[in-house]
Amino acid sequence: MRDANFLTENNAKHIWHPMAHPAEMKRNPPHVIMKGRGAYVTDLEGREVLDAVGGLWNVNLGYSCDPVKQAIAAQLDALPYYSGFRGTSTGPSIELAWELAQWFAPEGMTRALFTSGGSDSVETALRLARQYWKIRGQGDRTKFIALKKGYHGTHFGGASVNGNANFRRNYEPLLPGVFHIPAPYAYRNPFDETDPERLARLCVRALEDEIAFQGPDTIAAFIMEPVLGAGGVIVPPDSFLPLVREVCDRHEILLIADEVVTAFGRTGAWAGARLTGVKPDMMTIAKAVTSGYFPLGATMIGGRMAEVFEADRSSFGAIGHGYTYSGHPVGCAAGLAALAETKRLRLDENAAARGAELAAVLEDLKARHPLVGDVRCRGLMAALELVSDRDSKAPADKAVMTKVADTAYAAGAMLRVSGPNVILSPPLIVTAEEIRAIGAAIDAGL
Ligand code: PLP
Repeated sequence: MRDANFLTENNAKHIWHPMAHPAEMKRNPPHVIMKGRGAYVTDLEGREVLDAVGGLWNVNLGYSCDPVKQAIAAQLDALPYYSGFRGTSTGPSIELAWELAQWFAPEGMTRALFTSGGSDSVETALRLARQYWKIRGQGDRTKFIALKKGYHGTHFGGASVNGNANFRRNYEPLLPGVFHIPAPYAYRNPFDETDPERLARLCVRALEDEIAFQGPDTIAAFIMEPVLGAGGVIVPPDSFLPLVREVCDRHEILLIADEVVTAFGRTGAWAGARLTGVKPDMMTIAKAVTSGYFPLGATMIGGRMAEVFEADRSSFGAIGHGYTYSGHPVGCAAGLAALAETKRLRLDENAAARGAELAAVLEDLKARHPLVGDVRCRGLMAALELVSDRDSKAPADKAVMTKVADTAYAAGAMLRVSGPNVILSPPLIVTAEEIRAIGAAIDAGL
């Protein structure tokens, strides 16, 4: 690799960073991360900081997981690539699809269509939903409903169901026939309702209202994250997803759980939907399936849906969708090793225990810092929502957010800032001592 001067000089010169303004990146180049160890990363200047972001919600095993590295190296040696398109398959993809069906057996997921990441998985789910209704002779069911504040990646389908203007406005017009209802976000909502249970019922009523307005027989699917991540870690009460499931069932609308962040232990359960016992019709996964060691995702398809495709005698059953890297053998080998380690280390239990400690640390910060308007936590997904004034709930401005993150970085922890939220999703191997260190760094930032 070229030397540090080259990297510093060219940082943000020829590379456009996702989710960033190119001019701002030139003015204020991002940290260059050179190494990782356990839950820590080291930058170009040699500073080692605790990664309270966990890469991007994905490095659940931390940066030193030898079994995953070895599985990747062995698979590279045996077969670095072969296609999963009709005509060929590979051993690791067959094995990982089997493993995922076991993993998500309580959710009734029986088939995997592999993708290259989360946005692909969402796109695949939306397409399969429309195709399903064509097979069933209900081709008018093309519309989608989603939650405001939801995040579903950046492809045109995913951006269309996204519920945050920042990811939509510059790319409009998006897909027609997509509608949004309020999220059960108790800190800010159009109903001025602070009680989570009452708010959940109001949001579900808004869903029913939208379904009635659109016509149930025009709606293909409803999509939501069991815990909303990028929108600011909005944690619906446990009653919400079962109520949504009931409404979807009543109107025969498919339910897609976007589990790109929530699957594999992050919420303290092996799947976000498992927190409430709901069985979705499809699940989208990516990120922690390989702990970020290789780009891979999948759309998981439930038994009832799978049977419709597999019994199809219409002209609509063939899947005209997929990616060059669907079922990439190296990614699938990484996934098998990552899931084995995830299970062996019981990362779900660590996420629940460390998550409770993190929640206590954040509540303490809220008690001491007027900048903190709200704290939200589920397992090791957490957000601090910062405000300039607690009474008016005016969001903290960008300069404040940048200063908090920069100061915390100097104090030893990498945080992620998204709008007025400080978002935390440390590796699931994090220790109690490291949780305290993250808290101390945020304290310094605040
Ligand atoms: N869905 C959810 C819930 C996500 O959080 C993300 C990314 O953070 C995506 C989809 C998109 O995944 P990717 O960035 O891998 O395309």
